Amino acid sequence: MATRRFVGIDLGGTNIKGGVVDEDRCVLSHLSIPTEAEHGPDPVIELMAELVDRVIDQAGLSKTDIEAVGIGSPGSMSHTRGIIIKPPNLPGWENVPLRDRIKDKTGLPTTLENDANAAAWGEFWAGAGRGTRHMVMFTLGTGVGGGIITDGRLLRGHFDNGAELGHTIIQPGGRPCGCGQKGCLEAYASASYTARRATEAVQAGESSSLADVLAQQDELTSEDVVNAAVQGDALATRIFDETCHYLAVACVNMQHATNPERIVLAGGMIAAGEDALLKPIREKAAEMTWQAADDLPEIMFASLGNDAGFIGAAGAAWLAREEGEI
Ligand SMILES: [Zn+2]
Repeated sequence: MATRRFVGIDLGGTNIKGGVVDEDRCVLSHLSIPTEAEHGPDPVIELMAELVDRVIDQAGLSKTDIEAVGIGSPGSMSHTRGIIIKPPNLPGWENVPLRDRIKDKTGLPTTLENDANAAAWGEFWAGAGRGTRHMVMFTLGTGVGGGIITDGRLLRGHFDNGAELGHTIIQPGGRPCGCGQKGCLEAYASASYTARRATEAVQAGESSSLADVLAQQDELTSEDVVNAAVQGDALATRIFDETCHYLAVACVNMQHATNPERIVLAGGMIAAGEDALLKPIREKAAEMTWQAADDLPEIMFASLGNDAGFIGAAGAAWLAREEGEI
């Protein structure tokens, strides 16, 4: 039997990435184009359909060689209905039936997945979680994204909002989060909130080498915090240690919630590296976990980088076919 091939499209606010991936997880082609989101949904949908053609062409294939298309899309969306509801970084997109529009334009069976779920599925299917049955992923970027695979299945939940791990509350009554809750994981441990906590401490007058950095730029980044911590700055060390603490709390909570084999950390902040980020999280999680069983999951970095989105979207198309959804 011929190898089955899938197109994955990762729709982002800045770029659309796409590629052909086969069932052996080999990437056969890969392209990235600007989203030009300011023009609204119609031209973007046109671009996405063109990108499907282009990556098929680049792989030296034709449409008849492709089994299905998977799309990873940001923001609130419904997998079941194939609709983008209202993503914050795509202005003018409201209740857009993206799945069916791409299906109509390409003539291929199409599935729509939340981008965080698609990226987690990518790591599970083709990356750091490959070979496991139970995996949790935290994506540490501007926000904290999440994805849960349990017993080889992607957890979406009744409202399609499952695995919003960034909005699990780890500090009741704590810092306000953009979502309206207080004390969310995201409001402490995302790259942007890590930087913001450092900025606030410097502005409150704490002495730190970060004061000089802040004097030269509008705001601090999480890289500034990591760099200062590596150089021994006490405030930066404390701030980043808190980030690791909250991530360790989140890992232990997920250990007990879904008992995964692996917890995978992805996103821009993993550039902080093993010594600054992974080791402290592992140590803190090992310190705070229970004694009732020896089941702390392996905590590790993701392996697909920015390709996880489109690979996972292709994997989502594979999954939708396996499950008979499309
Ligand atoms: Zn929140």
